[in-house]
This record gives sequence, C-alpha cells and structure tokens, in this order.
Amino acid sequence: MSEIIKSKAVVLEKMNYSDSSLIVTLYTEHNGKVSAIVKGGRSPKSKLALVVDILNLIEVIFYKKESRELQIISSADLIAHYPNIKSDLDSTKYAFAVLEVVRNLTIENESNNRLFKGLVRILEHFENRKELPSILFARFFMFLITETGYEMMIDKCGNCGKDLNPDSGVGYNYSAGFICEDCLHSHSGFEKIDSELFKFLYCLKNKKFLNGLSNKTIDEGNSFLERYVKDHIPDFKGIQSLFMFK
Ligand SMILES: [Zn+2]
Repeated sequence: MSEIIKSKAVVLEKMNYSDSSLIVTLYTEHNGKVSAIVKGGRSPKSKLALVVDILNLIEVIFYKKESRELQIISSADLIAHYPNIKSDLDSTKYAFAVLEVVRNLTIENESNNRLFKGLVRILEHFENRKELPSILFARFFMFLITETGYEMMIDKCGNCGKDLNPDSGVGYNYSAGFICEDCLHSHSGFEKIDSELFKFLYCLKNKKFLNGLSNKTIDEGNSFLERYVKDHIPDFKGIQSLFMFK
C-alpha cells in the first residue's frame, strides 16, 4: 500500500543519485524526516529540481510506502527560498548548520510538528536578520537538544538543588550537569564555566535576549552545545558546516 502525502517541508540535503536523479532529505510538517527521490532531477530542464533545492520551504506531494527507504516525489511548489540567507556567507553557514543538526539528530519518519515549526521560524529569523546568525544557530541548537530528549538542566544546581545564578560562577561535568559556585568550591571533578558563557547558555535555554555578547562567547556557546551533544550521543560527529565555511 502506498499513500499520497501532501506536506510542507524544508529541504535539508540534496545529493546526486545515478546519472539522472536526485536524492533529497526533507523535514516534513507531519511525517518528520523523509528521504525521497526526484526522478530526472539532474536534468537542467527539471523544474522540480529547482523547487526541491536545499534550504527551500516547499509544499511537496510524494508517494509514501512504509517498506521503501526512498519515497517518490511527484510534485512540489515553492513557499519560500530565503534569498537574504543565500546571499550572505555567514547566514548561509549557520543556516546550513541548522539543516545539518536536524538531519543528524532526528530519526526518519518520526513526526515532531513543534520541531518543524521551530525550524521554519528560525529560517524566517535568519532571513529577516533578527539576530546574528551565530546566535540564531545557538538558539535553535538549544531548542533541538530539548526536542530530541537531551534537555540541558540549567536552572538548578545538579548537586544541592539551589537556583543557579547566571551572574555567578558555576561548574559543570557530564554526570551532574551544572552546579552552583558553593558546590564547585566543595567538590572536585568539575570544570569552572566562564560566567559570560553560562549567562549565554542560560539565556538560550530560557529564551531571553542578551545584548553585548562577544563573538568569543557566542563561539564558546556553540562549541559547548556541540560538546554536550557529543557527550550524550556518541555517534554525533560534530557540525561540519561550521568548518566548511571557515
Ligand atoms: Zn549547589
């Protein structure tokens, strides 16, 4: 049995397949991540391939068969193609990093409508230059970490349960997470986290805005999130998009 599905989707990845076709990875509104084939998509005359291009938000119709790894795309319409992102190198780099983490941290055919909405919203923020691309990426990465079940506990000390104060020093290790300054002084095996870095992570987690962030703190924040995911998901290899564009 195959069913016809019409869905909004973001194109996460596009690869050549055979001499004539393309394989794409989509993140769909109601079906989660889906791999699909665009038959004839490598032909310069393929209108479908222009629409089903990386980063685009599309409305796609595909034939879904559970037993098949690749679904078949029959048609697609463009909803948004984000020209401001594509014309700016830094926006492209961090938006591609968004696509990459969605691709690598979600499971095929596992629906998450909140994640789809969050993905579309962050691409709109990139397009409208709402904040620096590096901060938008960090916001999305923190959201995705929560959505994939690895929520970062950042409000209370992992040791004594006291509220953590973003203005004071904190400690961190993999098993206890963040601990307060008092516990940091009385316990070993924790690394001290720079207070600017912690404040940044705290704001990401609590969806607050922060002015005057240094690029160094933002980079450290993204590296910290990357390391956090590596600690929890050993298969995660890090974010290639952030190196590719350096
Ligand atoms: Zn404590």
